[in-house]
Amino acid sequence: MSTLSQACLWLDAAPPAVPARPPLRQSSSCDVAIIGGGYTGLWTAYYLKRAAPELDVALLEAQRCGDGASGRNGGWLLGGLAQQERHLLSLQGAAREQARRSLFGIVDEVAAVLARERIDCDFAHGGVLYAAARYPEQAAMGRDWLRQLRRAGHGEADFRWLDAAEMAAQLGVSGVGGGIYSPHCAVIDPAKLAWGLARAVAALGVRIHEDSPVRRWSAGKLYLADCELSARVVVPALEGAASQFSALSRCLLPVQSLLLATEPLSTAQWDEIGLARRQAFGDLSRMVTYGQRSADGRLVFGARGGYRLGGRVQWDFDPDAEAFRWRERLLRRLFPALGATAVQYRWGGTLGVARAFTPYVLYDRRAGLAMAGGYGGEGVGAANLMGRTLAQLILERPDPLTAMPWVSTEGGLERVRRWAPEPIPWLGYHLVRSGYALEERLCASGGAPAWSKRGAARLASALEALLA
Ligand SMILES: Cc1cc2nc3c(=O)[nH]c(=O)nc-3n(C[C@H](O)[C@H](O)[C@H](O)COP(=O)(O)OP(=O)(O)OC[C@H]3O[C@@H](n4cnc5c(N)ncnc54)[C@H](O)[C@@H]3O)c2cc1C
Repeated sequence: MSTLSQACLWLDAAPPAVPARPPLRQSSSCDVAIIGGGYTGLWTAYYLKRAAPELDVALLEAQRCGDGASGRNGGWLLGGLAQQERHLLSLQGAAREQARRSLFGIVDEVAAVLARERIDCDFAHGGVLYAAARYPEQAAMGRDWLRQLRRAGHGEADFRWLDAAEMAAQLGVSGVGGGIYSPHCAVIDPAKLAWGLARAVAALGVRIHEDSPVRRWSAGKLYLADCELSARVVVPALEGAASQFSALSRCLLPVQSLLLATEPLSTAQWDEIGLARRQAFGDLSRMVTYGQRSADGRLVFGARGGYRLGGRVQWDFDPDAEAFRWRERLLRRLFPALGATAVQYRWGGTLGVARAFTPYVLYDRRAGLAMAGGYGGEGVGAANLMGRTLAQLILERPDPLTAMPWVSTEGGLERVRRWAPEPIPWLGYHLVRSGYALEERLCASGGAPAWSKRGAARLASALEALLA
């Protein structure tokens, strides 16, 4: 019989293969100083050092590399970017095609690095299934989304409608009514990726200092407890934790997401559930559900999280909280094959959401600042693309990536749209959530009149647009 753990499956399963790197204790200087040892910081360091081995790059991490969102996420490695349709619609012809290629190329690029650096992170490139499940309105939501994808230039090879039988052959969820398949996604063990990258980055000669929280930062200088680090360029790679620095306050909204992992399932259960190629999956409701079949045969499942007044960051979660029980009920409704299988892990983390839900890359040469973020829960793949882009910007080597519409090189931090001061984000977030919860309740209950479901959906979308 398993016991319930509030620890993160990935961080708990195996300790990092290397001892903690020494904290920074003496003042020094470097060419590029990166704050944060998650994917954004690690990928930036990786591409910088490969392109310019002579560069002195230091990375400062408050805890251990991967302890933030990067080591505790759902492990969807998407070849995409939140709100990519908006960007693609602003481009035409060859420029649009170039942008699509750079997004879809993320998965192959990560796979190439994993092979080159011998990083084993249980990578499986099985694509992603967005299933219309549980209630019929999800199929209409999926068809709507597919129309938007087509307008943005994506064809059948990128996003394809599966009818109910085709979907059921791959994913055994309840009430299946078809859905969308895309090949542009892989799944990974997130912590193994973060640790493997940290090892590769250190081997390239990047100075990694763990247990080294940066307390303050001003033009070209980072202040730690006992020393300072000067740098020509500073890269704050903090995502959900960005607001601790006043210069970045209100750039990103720190939002929580929560996950569960079951015990390993039996072969008979997997025969019923499917996911034979370890496809990532979610349903098409607005609860933003996401899951994967882990390499050791567990169902890992998460859904849209919470937001704390004042934008407080959260890493510790009460495993008995209603928020987890609600996710477990949703998981069991989706997968009756689970039967009495226990949920063994419950954990969460904090991610960053940018205004208009649109991630960005920014380079300000004069201020010596390079940053990226606001991935909104889709940062595993995006951080690779943004890390590559940041490296090219810092090295001042323009290429197609540095010309993408999500990159700003003019106007500095002023270009980043800030969220409204509290309590507006807190109120807005909870209103939007309530709107979606109402829509979900009405649809899932079955008997509600169609006008009430449409009304709830419109209300939630309008609130979300207002908040953005
Ligand atoms: C529960 C959850 C599930 C998710 N699921 C998915 C998913 O399936 N697919 C997907 O694409 N995205 C997912 N995401 C989002 C994704 O994990 C993030 O977008 C991505 O990991 C961000 O990487 P990062 O390096 O920018 O930030 P982080 O990984 O958060 O790294 C920031 C680092 O900065 C460090 N730090 C903070 N303050 C300081 C300081 N003062 N000094 C030094 N260091 C500091 C932190 O310790 C942390 O290690 C999920 C996020 C969460 C929380």
